[in-house]
Amino acid sequence: MKILISNDDGYLAPGIVALADALASIAEIVVVAPDSNRSGSSNSLTLDRPLSVYKAANGFHFVNGTPSDCVHVALTGVLAFRPDLIVSGINQGQNMGDDTLYSGTVAAATEGYLFGIPSIAFSQVEKGWGELAAAARVAREIVQRKFDTLDKPYLLNVNIPNLPYDELGEIVATRLGKRHQSEAVIRAIDPHGREIFWIGPAGQAREAGEGTDFHAVANGRISITPLQIDLTHNAQLDSLKKSLR
Ligand code: MN
Repeated sequence: MKILISNDDGYLAPGIVALADALASIAEIVVVAPDSNRSGSSNSLTLDRPLSVYKAANGFHFVNGTPSDCVHVALTGVLAFRPDLIVSGINQGQNMGDDTLYSGTVAAATEGYLFGIPSIAFSQVEKGWGELAAAARVAREIVQRKFDTLDKPYLLNVNIPNLPYDELGEIVATRLGKRHQSEAVIRAIDPHGREIFWIGPAGQAREAGEGTDFHAVANGRISITPLQIDLTHNAQLDSLKKSLR
């Protein structure tokens, strides 16, 4: 098995190092990841300047671009082979509910999925890299699963509680929950006296009932949500047609 690994926290992040270490024992791996933290970059591609691919001493490739750039460039220009699987993460912090739209971690996996390759995004629920070894072990176990019942390509979003391996609950299939609106921007004054804004934190969970990703991890379980990319609101399609008559 050949696996392309990327992330959005950058090629030096502990999460991608742990993930690469865990997967190197079961697959041929190649790492192509952003040169710096590009969290929240969603599916953006860099179109206003060229991209460069560098190789670090540990063999990881890093790119002066976004997670989507990394996977895109890897698949279309860098790799001499087509990977069997694309794995993204392990992200520092949860990507649940509406987070998935903003996430660069999910975006790297999405780029693989759009190229027709099964892809999995991994995130730890809490920031700070606590119990990262357990998360990496879980990631390896999930990668080794066959998911034979799923149509290929599939796009899976995994969130792992920061718990010791023995305290982790079962792996459960979930749907995305929903969050409340984001918190307000954080205002500050820069050294020149000008008002500046930091984007505030994501909102708290709003729809977090049984069956959601939020509910699973709140109960110590490992959440896997199958994602799709077609944003068509099918339930509104007929209503829209009526209003256009
Ligand atoms: Mn990140």
